[in-house]
Parts: sequence; structure tokens; C-alpha cells
Amino acid sequence: MIGLLMAAATGTAASVAALRVSRFRPPAGAADPADLEGLDADAAAARLAELVRIPTVSSREPGEVDAAAFARFRERLVQLYPATHGALDREVLGDGALLYRWRSGTDLPPLVLMAHYDVVPVAGQEWSRDPFSGLIEDGLIHGRGAIDDKGALVAIFEAVESLVTAGFTPARDVYLSFGNDEEVAGVGAALAVETLTARGVRPWAVLDEGGAVVSGVFPGVPGPTAVVGLAEKGLLDVELITTDGGGHASAPVRGGAPARLARAILRIEDNPFPARLHEVVLGMVDALGRYSPLGYRVLFAHAEYLRPALAAVLSRASREANALVRTTVAITQLEGSAAANVLATRARAHANIRIALGETVQSTLDRLRRVIDDPSVELRVVSGNDPSPVSRADNEAFALVGAAVRSVYPDAAVAPYVMVQASDARHFSQICDSVYRFMPFDLSRDELAALHAADERISVAALHRGAGFFRYLIRHL
Ligand SMILES: [Zn+2]
Repeated sequence: MIGLLMAAATGTAASVAALRVSRFRPPAGAADPADLEGLDADAAAARLAELVRIPTVSSREPGEVDAAAFARFRERLVQLYPATHGALDREVLGDGALLYRWRSGTDLPPLVLMAHYDVVPVAGQEWSRDPFSGLIEDGLIHGRGAIDDKGALVAIFEAVESLVTAGFTPARDVYLSFGNDEEVAGVGAALAVETLTARGVRPWAVLDEGGAVVSGVFPGVPGPTAVVGLAEKGLLDVELITTDGGGHASAPVRGGAPARLARAILRIEDNPFPARLHEVVLGMVDALGRYSPLGYRVLFAHAEYLRPALAAVLSRASREANALVRTTVAITQLEGSAAANVLATRARAHANIRIALGETVQSTLDRLRRVIDDPSVELRVVSGNDPSPVSRADNEAFALVGAAVRSVYPDAAVAPYVMVQASDARHFSQICDSVYRFMPFDLSRDELAALHAADERISVAALHRGAGFFRYLIRHL
């Protein structure tokens, strides 16, 4: 494709293109030095380990939730961060969502820092260490929630505790909103939004879990990149259902319920949703492409004019990159007859769908029906959310997030991106146009792969830098 581009760009066009490429460089300017005063890496690690030991596992079945563990977690926070709990107002919403307010004495719109303290289960996973031991070994803190999202919660508390202890008052109010049911798409964060809305509070910016500092994920960019989510894809759960008369398996019918269901699934598989380069992904290419070697830079500098081609390149680059450019469908459950020798009267598949920006629940369902092209396949919507609005990246708040990143990761390129998972942050999009999804931790590919899986862990150093990130952010409001 680069060759094609070169061939097309002749004469003046070539010199314009060359100028464009030569200017397509990383932004100049040195980063502020890291601000890690009053932050003790080992003490923070020990506190995170303690909180990992409290098994706050969430479940969609209320009876399976260990409410005592959640209560113990909230009490332990008070003991671990006494200065914070002395200086900030705290309220418990619903079944245990926490909302803190750090008063500035000004009327400026506040900053909201979010995290959640529930974790996903460990059942069926092969851990090499006890997931709730909070073991610290070779500079790593092990256990469920070490990153997602007790790591972020601890980094926030470490920053606030150090600043309160030093007698610091923020330039605008800072709210801490910690959900207790994020992993089961619960109501904790929605209650926080309701509470703030009722009080007429409209945040200046909101920061929640999301992207991280990663290396080697963007083609041609070997160094660390901090990807900050400006939006998240929509989430749609649909059941595909076919029915049939049933009967004995010794006399089957052609085109029975399972066969029609299978055909529908294959049609979806063979007709993926179109790949498109959304504005946000274009922004990511623009920000990261500047750090790539010349060959790639020629391409990325002209990303705006090469959107279809770039979308195609990304869709083939990796499954993660593919998820950035299109609506994806994962068939996660299949069900037929309950007995081995009985024809199915009903066959069911569950489709977990992540809707790309620019599309909706409705447009997704319409396309699925068109592709399946079989009225005997019923689509039953279990739940559905449209993609979130896109947050601003042209403002002070986004620039501050970038500066805070560079203060602790001076080599990192900062780029916007689209989060492919759902998060609590989407609730805040209703009352704020600057909702950012970012975890200030540098994570290896293996560490990223351990999210929601076995052997979740975070390095003591990353936790320390994360606390430094929040400290910088709060000090520069
Ligand atoms: Zn999480």
C-alpha cells in the first residue's frame, strides 16, 4: 500500500506529501518530573495485598454475594487511609457503592476519580498461587483484583492520603466514586451519577479504568504507549432461537432446529460487520503514527485519506485491532436437545455483541436479521446498550491526563482510543463530556492477559507510578 501511495503522489503532490511526513513527528517538549513525594511503594503494595485478601467477588445472583466481605473491605479502607477518611466526606450508596467528596472551597466543576472494588470469580481457573493470598513476590503483588480494579483504587487512595497528610487542598473538588458491582453491570456507579445530578454537580472530568501503558501493540511503535479511552463500544446480548416439532432421533428431519441455528451462526461468521476507521481510532493513528519508523509514517501521516485501507489493515493486524474497527459478534453459548436420542424442539445460541461507534442496537439487529436471512430464526434481545458518546480530546482535562502520564512515564506516547469492553464510566457520560478510561499502570502482554483470568498480578513499581499519576493530576487541577 505504501508503494501505491508513492506512485499516486507525483509532482507537487509528492512534495506536499513529503512535507506532511516530515512534520508528522511526536510533540516536542520535556515532561514534568515525577511527583512521588510521600508515596511509599512497599507500604502501598502491602495495603493492596491486604485488600486483595478480602474476597469481594460479585455475582448476578444476590444470594451468592458475600456481603460481609464487602463490609469488611469498606471498614478496612477507613483503617488503611485514616487521613483521607478524616478529611473527605464519605457516603455509602445502595448496597455499598462509595462516594467521597474532597472539598476545595471553590465552585469549580469537580474531578471524579472512579474505581470498583468488586472482582470477578476465580472458579475454573488454574492459578499458580492462591488468588486471595495477596502474596508479594519478586516485586509483584499477586491475586484477583491486583489490577482490576483494586490496584487503581489503591493508587488513588495512596495519592489522596499523601496529599491530605501534607496539608494539600485541591484547586477544585475531587470526588472518589468506587463501585461495588461493576463486574455484574450493577447500579453502584449509576447511583453516584444520580446523587451528583440531584445536587447539580456536573464534573469537569471523570477518570475510570480502561486503557493502560502498553508496549508493542501498535504496528511500528516499539516504545510504551498510554492509550486513554474516549469512548466505549456498545454491548448487546442476543439469543438466537430456532424451534421444531421434535421427536425420536432415529427419524430426523432435514433442516431441523439445530441445523438452521448452525446456518445462521455461519452466515454471521461469514459476513462480518464492516470495518470502519472511526474518528477516535483515526486520532489514535495520528498520535501513535508519529512515533513509527519512516515507512509507516508515510502511511499514517495520510491516515485521513486512507481510512478504508487502514481499517482493512487494522482488521487483519490482530484480534484486538480488529475489535477497534468493527462491531464484533461472539457466539458464547450453544444449546440443543437435553437428551442424546431426542430431537431438539428448541436450539439456542447466545451472541455477545460489541457495537462499534457510529452504530446502534437497532442498526445491529437490523443487519443481523438481513445476514441471517431466515425468518424462522428468532432474535431475542437480552440486554443492549448503544456505544457511549465520545469524550473531548481537545481540552484542558485531556491535556492534563497526558501531562500526568508523561510525569511518570516520560517515554510514553499518549493516544486516544476506543475501549472495547464496557465500564462503569459510561454512566458518567450523561453528565460530563470529558470521561476518560485509563489505568495509569505499565502492563506487559502477560499481565494484560491475566485480567479476568488466572494469575492476575501487578508490579510494585507500576502501582507506585500509578499513585504518582493521580498525585500529579490532583496537584495540577
Ligand atoms: Zn474492572
